[in-house]
Amino acid sequence: MITVLGSLNMDLVALTDRAPNLGETVTGREFRTIPGGKGANQAVAAARAGGRVAMAGAVGSDAFGEEMVGTLRRDGIETELVRRASGASGTAHIVVDGRGQNAIIVIPGANGTVLGLTEADREQIRASSHLLMQLELPLCVVEEAAAVAHAAGVQVVLTPAPARALPASLLAHVDWLIPNEHEAVLLAGGGSPEAAAEVLLGAVRNVVVTLGARGCLWRSQSGETAAVAAPRVNAVDTTAAGDTFAGALAVALSEGRPVPDALRWACKAAAISVTRLGASPSMPTRREIEEMTL
Ligand code: ADP
Repeated sequence: MITVLGSLNMDLVALTDRAPNLGETVTGREFRTIPGGKGANQAVAAARAGGRVAMAGAVGSDAFGEEMVGTLRRDGIETELVRRASGASGTAHIVVDGRGQNAIIVIPGANGTVLGLTEADREQIRASSHLLMQLELPLCVVEEAAAVAHAAGVQVVLTPAPARALPASLLAHVDWLIPNEHEAVLLAGGGSPEAAAEVLLGAVRNVVVTLGARGCLWRSQSGETAAVAAPRVNAVDTTAAGDTFAGALAVALSEGRPVPDALRWACKAAAISVTRLGASPSMPTRREIEEMTL
């Protein structure tokens, strides 16, 4: 069982030929609402990859909240621990112009109310093999959950995004840190992705740096390493590639697969996702991952 503790955001996307300047109004082309948030995206990726997944977090008392929970349920994700906070759900207000450039305002809404774990959250975490987290919830709850998991021998998998400095006390409870190369370099204070991974190994047991179209690399404190090349694909939209990777990796690790196999599996899942548009709509099923040849 994989527990995902993280954000649920409704993406409100305005497609327009030209983005407005401040004080200006333009007429856009199209509007879309797409359930997202890094937590929900990783939960969907893990469920599609064949994992048993429970989501913990919060939505608001608005219609977006109901819709986001319903979307998770349709993917077979347990949602009993998704709280209903009074007020607005988390939203991401995204303007995409004719050249594909975007500007985004994220309003945490209900996500910002998740300041501590409930007893039910703690029980769920302790009953899991893996706890999967990102940094779109308040840091205090991420720290609390990592400590609860670590004390119970549950593997903690953390995607450090959006990037920010992290306390050593949190990193000491992380078994798998999965930064992309920008996050790795930022957390390590500079250097190449390989050098950044070495620096981060001073704080966490395993570092997997995702390298976009170049795949990923793994280093462990016990000296194991692997590098996996990404399958060559025709990339059309890399949104949520990292979340697809993290969700699929957690599933493979929870099945006890050797790490290099787990990394290859995660690279396949992420590669399929970049060939299709959108975040969760692009995430592959277990069968699609298995059928893909490297
Ligand atoms: P993020 O989406 O968090 O910025 P990356 O860009 O590193 O993270 O992508 C995560 C993973 O997605 C990579 O490790 C790789 O496996 C896969 N991926 C990303 N871009 C491509 C691509 N163009 N072709 C194949 N795989 C890709």
